[in-house]
Amino acid sequence: MTIAQAKTGRQNWATNVQFQAKKFEAPETIEQLQEIIQAASKIRVVGAGHSFNDIADTSGTLISLDGLAKFVEIDRDQHTATFHGGMTYIDIAPVLHRAGYGLANLSSTPHTTVIGACMTGTHGSGDGNKALADQVSALEMINADGELLQLSRATHGEKFKGMVVALGGLGVVTKVTVDLVPTYLMQHEFYRQLPLANMLAQFDEMMASGYSVSIGSRWQSEMAELVLIRRKLADDQAVPVSPAFYGATLIGGELFANYPMERITFQENGTAAPWYERLPFFNIRSTIAGENERQSEYFVARKHGVDALRAVNALGDQMSSIIKITEIRTIAADELWLSAAYQQDCVGIHFSWVAKDEEIYRFLPILEDALAPFNPRPHWGKMFAMAPADVRGRFPKMADFQALLSEFDPQGKFMNDYLAKYVSPSA
Ligand SMILES: Cc1cc2nc3c(=O)[nH]c(=O)nc-3n(C[C@H](O)[C@H](O)[C@H](O)COP(=O)(O)OP(=O)(O)OC[C@H]3O[C@@H](n4cnc5c(N)ncnc54)[C@H](O)[C@@H]3O)c2cc1C
Repeated sequence: MTIAQAKTGRQNWATNVQFQAKKFEAPETIEQLQEIIQAASKIRVVGAGHSFNDIADTSGTLISLDGLAKFVEIDRDQHTATFHGGMTYIDIAPVLHRAGYGLANLSSTPHTTVIGACMTGTHGSGDGNKALADQVSALEMINADGELLQLSRATHGEKFKGMVVALGGLGVVTKVTVDLVPTYLMQHEFYRQLPLANMLAQFDEMMASGYSVSIGSRWQSEMAELVLIRRKLADDQAVPVSPAFYGATLIGGELFANYPMERITFQENGTAAPWYERLPFFNIRSTIAGENERQSEYFVARKHGVDALRAVNALGDQMSSIIKITEIRTIAADELWLSAAYQQDCVGIHFSWVAKDEEIYRFLPILEDALAPFNPRPHWGKMFAMAPADVRGRFPKMADFQALLSEFDPQGKFMNDYLAKYVSPSA
């Protein structure tokens, strides 16, 4: 069998994780992939490698699905799209739009694979918008024995809720089916210098003022630096933009002087474009380098959101040397067992850090202590320092997920150090 030259990078996108895998493979057919899985004693698959920790790593064989031929099949009766497990949102979004379809939401970068994003509970923003994994209605997956399984919301009911945000622990997903919505146009509006006092006093009102709202703060002054509102357009018509937002003022492109403009979706306030040109922060035509970026994110129940933000604000001085920006978003509750929004509407408090790893890991326990009264759930794909038992304890369906792991992978072929630490019942 000819296995294609592995294209997999030996490190993650941010370059803070050097993969320890002994072998890297990029099969070109499903049959090759099945053989590789059957032959391996330890194996994982890496998507775009955008996670900031070792969740994708393995001591054995690390697979990339980049070698598989790309396809998108649209089912116009079911309003779903199916594509292979190595494909990114960049691969699928324009195809869906041309076919008259859209996805309900996206994260800030379309550069991730769809399934890699869903496996870690990736989300965008919006009071009514759930984590991206909620869009997934079916998976084709190869299990540890090399068998091709068909799994779906319709046929697997309750258990399917544990299969999409699954940290890559159950097998290698070869096909993903997602629910579609009719395509739509959006506009966005950027405001600067939002008084923190206003944000804390009128948080719910502000977050409800668009289809998707993000607030960015560095916690270094009395102001949040940035507000980003994404509006879904009825009749595809742009609507007038207000010059002010709760004390913040409308801005042009000057705030992004440090970003090459072609990298980001921000072009001009109040101009209509397809959903995938407005929902993410990063432009689908860009390539973004990761060595200067680190990220962490914690989710608290919506009812604790404002108090949690106050607690973060009190730490402004202590994070001054590492904070690039915090992005505050809202996520609607879902039923996915390992989702941070499992049965609770959430506020996501995301931190983009300067790439000073030692300082970040010194600060994370301080941040986590401050958030502890609000029972934060960490983002599975970002940096955190919480004790493994605390992580497990924050996910009420963890025992069910552990049972699913044992059922799908009794020999622990897909088990890696990360899963052993944070998920395994014996850890
Ligand atoms: C610039 C940037 C912006 C980001 N913005 C957001 C954001 O807005 N919101 C948010 O929530 N997160 C965000 N993230 C985090 C990111 O979405 C997650 O880390 C996501 O998991 C990355 O997807 P990936 O394709 O790179 O997956 P990887 O990091 O490669 O893998 C993640 C997990 O998925 C598993 N996996 C991948 N492919 C398969 C497969 N075919 N079958 C089974 N398992 C598989 C891997 O084994 C691993 O466990 C951002 C990250 C970056 C770098």
